[in-house]
Amino acid sequence: MTITLYNTRTRQKEAFEPIDAENVRMYVCGPTVYDRAHLGNARPVIVFDVLYRLLRHVYGPEHVTYVRNFTDVDDKINARAAKSGREIGEITAETSQWFLDDMAAVGALEPSIRDQDNNRAMPRATQYIAQMIVMIEDLIAKGHAYAKEGHVLFRVRSYEGYGKLSGRSVDDMIAGARVEVAPFKEDPMDFVLWKPSDAQTPGWESAWGRGRPGWHIECSAMAHELLGEAFDIHGGGNDLMFPHHENEIAQSKCAGHDFANFWMHNEMLQVEGKKMSKSLGNFFTVRDLLDQGVPGEVIRFVMLSTHYRKPMDWTEKKRQEAADTLWKWKKLAEGAERQRRPHLEVVAALSDDLNTPLAISLLHQKFAEAQTQEERNRFLATLSLIGIGDDWRDGVAVSVENAFETVTLDGIANKIVEARSQKDFALSDELRNVLTSAGVVVQITKEGVSWERGPNFDPSKLEGLK
Ligand code: AMP
Ligand code: ZN
Repeated sequence: MTITLYNTRTRQKEAFEPIDAENVRMYVCGPTVYDRAHLGNARPVIVFDVLYRLLRHVYGPEHVTYVRNFTDVDDKINARAAKSGREIGEITAETSQWFLDDMAAVGALEPSIRDQDNNRAMPRATQYIAQMIVMIEDLIAKGHAYAKEGHVLFRVRSYEGYGKLSGRSVDDMIAGARVEVAPFKEDPMDFVLWKPSDAQTPGWESAWGRGRPGWHIECSAMAHELLGEAFDIHGGGNDLMFPHHENEIAQSKCAGHDFANFWMHNEMLQVEGKKMSKSLGNFFTVRDLLDQGVPGEVIRFVMLSTHYRKPMDWTEKKRQEAADTLWKWKKLAEGAERQRRPHLEVVAALSDDLNTPLAISLLHQKFAEAQTQEERNRFLATLSLIGIGDDWRDGVAVSVENAFETVTLDGIANKIVEARSQKDFALSDELRNVLTSAGVVVQITKEGVSWERGPNFDPSKLEGLK
C-alpha cells in the first residue's frame, strides 16, 4: 500500500518512498525537560506514534528507526534549577522519566533509539556535545558560521534556502520575529550555535572557551549521528517550523548533509476553543488528566479524532464521547485474540496522510458489523494500528486498573454479599450506591455480586473507603 504524506517542504501530499525500505528513518523533536508535559505536548507524540505504527505495519517493525531526543541542556532548565535550588541533573532525570511515563500512559510506543549512556529510552542532547562541536567547527570552516566573543553564530544570509520551509523571506522574518540584536552578531538574523557559560552554568570545553550549545544544533547533530546523511521524515509541532526547523535545515544543509526528505507538522491543541494558557486557567498537564481518572486511551482517542493538520479542540464533551465509545469497543474486544491482520480500509485511511478521523469512523462501522470471533479479532488488530487496546486484557484496560481500586471494589462487593446474606438490604443498597456513584456497574444476582468499571468510572470517589 502506498503511503502519501503532506510534505511541508513542498506544500503538497506526496507518495512516500523511503530512501531504504530496509531502514525507514524518522526524527521527531522531543521535549525540553524541566516540567511536566502539558496536554498540547502529547499531540505530536500521539500523531507521530500513529505514523510509527503505520510504518512498522507496512515495512516491518524491525525496518523502522525512530529517534526522539530529550533536550536536557537549556536556559529554561538552568532557570528552574536556580529557582528551586535543585541540581540540574536531578531535574532533567526526574522530568524525563515523567515524560516517558505520561507518554506510555497515552499508549505511545517508545522510539527505537535509546540513550547511549544509560540505555534509557530516548537519547539526551548532553550525550552528543562532541558531535555538535564537530559540526560547528565544520560550519565555521565552510564559512557558514563565525566565532565572536565566546559565541559562535550561524550566518543566515550564507544559506540561500533559508525560509523556504516556512515560506518566508529573510527580510519578512526580521520584520516579524523578535530577533535579538547583539554586539557579537554580524546580522540580527544570525542565530547562536554556541554560547559561553559562567561557572554556575553547565558548560563544556571547546575552541571558543567553556560553553554550551544553542538549542537548534542538537537536532542537526543527533539526527546525523543516529540516522545518517539523509533520512525520511522529520516531524514536530507547527510552532517549531520557524525558527527551529529552518535553523536545523540551514545547519545540516550547509554542513553538506541531505537531511530530511519529508517534513511533517501537527497543528496546535486548544481547550474549549481557546489557546491553552496559564492565565486563562485552562492549562493542564497530561498527568493532571490521568490523576483525575481520565484514562490515557481516552486522551489518545480524542486527539486522533481530529486530523493532525487541523487545530484540535479538547472539550469535555469529546472526552465523554470518547469514554463511551471506548467502553463499547472494549466490551466487544473482550475475549478477542491478538493477530496482525487489520482491516485494509483502515490501513488505507491512515496511509492517506494519517486520516485518523476517517479511520475512527470506519472503526465505528466495523464495530457495528463485528459479529463473529474472527471479526472481533480483526477489530482488535485494527485498533492496535491507532494505538488503542494494546493493554486491554479481558476487556479491562490495564491503564485504568489499579490494585488499590480492585481491592476496594472487591471488598465492597464482598460486604454487599455479606449484608444480603444477613438480609440487611438497607446496607446492601447503601454500598451499591457508593459503587454506582463512582461509575462502577454492579450486578447482583443469586450467584453473587459482580462489578466492572463503567465509562464514567471515577476512582477519586472511592478515596477514603477501604
Ligand atoms: P516544547 O517543549 O514547547 O518545545 O514542545 C514540545 C513539542 O510539543 C513540540 O513538538 C511542540 O510543537 C509541541 N507543542 C507545544 N505546544 C503545543 C500545542 N498547544 N499543541 C500541539 N503541540 C504542541
Ligand atoms: Zn528539533
